[in-house]
Amino acid sequence: MIGCIYIKNHNLVGMKHFHCIKILIVLMVLLSVVDANAQKPPVPAIVIHGGAGVIERGKLTPEVENEIRVTLQRALDTGYAVLEVGGSATDAVIAAIQVLEDSPRFNAGKGAVMNLAGTHELDASIMNGADLNAGAVAGVTTIKNPILAAQKVMTESPHVLLTGNGAEQFAREQKLSMVENTYFTTDAVYDSWERYVKSKSGDPRGDNTPGVDKVSKYGTVGAVAIDASGNIAAGTSTGGMMGKEYNRIGDSPIIGAGTYADNSTCGISCTGHGEYFIRVGVAKEISDQMAFGNKALPDATQYTLDRIAQLGGSGGLIAIDKEGNIRMDFNTKGMYRGYKHVKETKIAIYADE
Ligand code: ASP
Repeated sequence: MIGCIYIKNHNLVGMKHFHCIKILIVLMVLLSVVDANAQKPPVPAIVIHGGAGVIERGKLTPEVENEIRVTLQRALDTGYAVLEVGGSATDAVIAAIQVLEDSPRFNAGKGAVMNLAGTHELDASIMNGADLNAGAVAGVTTIKNPILAAQKVMTESPHVLLTGNGAEQFAREQKLSMVENTYFTTDAVYDSWERYVKSKSGDPRGDNTPGVDKVSKYGTVGAVAIDASGNIAAGTSTGGMMGKEYNRIGDSPIIGAGTYADNSTCGISCTGHGEYFIRVGVAKEISDQMAFGNKALPDATQYTLDRIAQLGGSGGLIAIDKEGNIRMDFNTKGMYRGYKHVKETKIAIYADE
């Protein structure tokens, strides 16, 4: 009997041991899952830019700087609100870009730069990484929100890129909001256009006039998002480069140059001297390095931005890879930028932020 009790107790002790070990193992597994999740970047997420350029401390008045930061925050919040309720990456990108297009502080939509003739020609593009569908418009002059026209080209037409009058007609047929070209003009843009024209004509009051706006050199806007299902989308919208001629079109509406998205690699939106970004095929080159070269996103963006610099170009980009890793890289003095996910929101302008 005593022996029996002893054996039972012994078994009991053994069982307890066994349970303890089991609990420990479960705990360790749980902890490692928690740890792995802690290291994984949060999804959904959105990243935006409002252009790169010679943006140095002291060049912006505190009021303008504050307005820019507030608008960037509003664009992030608007885009993230779409993702938070299970909306698509494409809808989040469009919502964020619309806020930036409507702000007079960026070179897209209202406040876009002027061509040499003193009018506005706008470009925009959007790409959906789930099916590689894409849409873009270039050289449009009366579409209030070019990013919405790009979206319609993607979803309501068999085409990818529409330009000029045809794009305008398509936008009207799609019942998009149309405006006079002067809607896009602001006093700041007009002043800086005037100075640009004077400097081009050799007028000494031209580019050297105090207060010349070199700050918003590349004020293009863009957004990249990854939604809760892991779909990635990227979009870009711009007025192009100040004083452009001959219906010049930059990288922003060119899929593969200024914009690209592929769920198997990443999404990218660029800003900078478009001619260089087109020649390198910046956005697609970054995606290709990940697809075919097995590179991580930071190495791929660094490699391509270095190549742009070697050719003499400057600018920047935002990107999100399929894991949700975010990049905001540039080789200029600053870039209006920010990102948002469940754990963090960040807005920055200068290189040292
Ligand atoms: N990339 C644009 C263009 O070349 C300019 C910009 O980023 O502001 O049209």
